[in-house]
Amino acid sequence: PLTTTDPIEPHKICVCVRKRPLNKQEINKKEIDVVSVPGRGALLVHEPKHKVDLTKYLENQVFHFDYSFDETATNELVYKFTAKPLVLSIFQGCMATCFAYGQTGSGKTHTMGGDFTGRQQNSAKGIYALAAQDVFTHLNNRKYANLDLCVYVSFFEIYNGKVFDLLNKKAKLRVLEDDRQQVQVVGLEEVCVSSAEDVIKIIQIGSACRTSGQTSANANSSRSHAVLQIVLRRSDRAATLHGKFSLVDLAGNERGTDVSSNDRSTLVETAEINRSLLALKECIRSLGRNSDHIPFRMSTLTKVLRDSFIGEKSRTCMIAMVSPGMASCEYTMNTLRYADRVK
Ligand code: ADP
Ligand code: MG
Repeated sequence: PLTTTDPIEPHKICVCVRKRPLNKQEINKKEIDVVSVPGRGALLVHEPKHKVDLTKYLENQVFHFDYSFDETATNELVYKFTAKPLVLSIFQGCMATCFAYGQTGSGKTHTMGGDFTGRQQNSAKGIYALAAQDVFTHLNNRKYANLDLCVYVSFFEIYNGKVFDLLNKKAKLRVLEDDRQQVQVVGLEEVCVSSAEDVIKIIQIGSACRTSGQTSANANSSRSHAVLQIVLRRSDRAATLHGKFSLVDLAGNERGTDVSSNDRSTLVETAEINRSLLALKECIRSLGRNSDHIPFRMSTLTKVLRDSFIGEKSRTCMIAMVSPGMASCEYTMNTLRYADRVK
């Protein structure tokens, strides 16, 4: 497996996979681990070694990514190979994005927002906070001092194609595109921050807002995309944009599960999630081909991230999360196939 001393390669598009450990309930249910990480970029979905012959359900499948993280990887290790190089890139004027993709329960929020100790989320240990810490480290570096930069943070959610501000009581916001194709989220709170601690407080406020008014902590938030943006602006009058890092905790990619449902709103929700994840894949692929045509209008998610899919100065990283269990195998394969297409 990867270690902290392995080299970090620069990528315009980096695609990684992270396997979480079996949890207590899965161990109690004697769930079988069908995912292995045999090398630094490889991931294998295999049939269990013993008992039942499951070959008719499962073929051995190897996938190759830029990096693969096994169940022993910490958020710090994952951060180092994924988001950390992107933090540096925004100081060089890039528009960077980092996506956590995968089925509900696979570890997206754990990776981005921090691990859960009991019911409380440890926000200081997620990629959001680790990125914020590095932003302030670079900001205090002499190399960037003459740029005279200020740091701003916004945090919003996209649910059913609509944008809600997590730093302003889920106020519903409009997305406008002007005649030069510039996209703007009208009225989005952008908080000026002066330390990593400020950002961590904002993450906590926004995350609490995201899960408020829900019956079960994971029920609805798993149906929305959460976008934390760290924005660098010059301290001139116009507050000129210098660089931007969008960190996205995507909606769960499990599809088709509700197809039999009679609940119309659930069907609409699922269709919208599928549409936006498809749009995201197409936009990243266009970026990879240096295409002039970016199909960003396909969804609200890609619309608000439009700047990040265009040109020389775009960088992106996708972390595909997988659950290790036999029961999740079908979802795991879907996740891996999607990530494979993005590469
Ligand atoms: P998602 O956001 O994808 O729905 P979560 O991040 O909420 O999934 O993770 C589901 C559960 O699994 C949480 O209790 C979380 O703490 C745990 N978990 C996820 N990834 C890991 C990991 N790498 N190590 C330990 N626990 C994890
Ligand atoms: Mg989540």
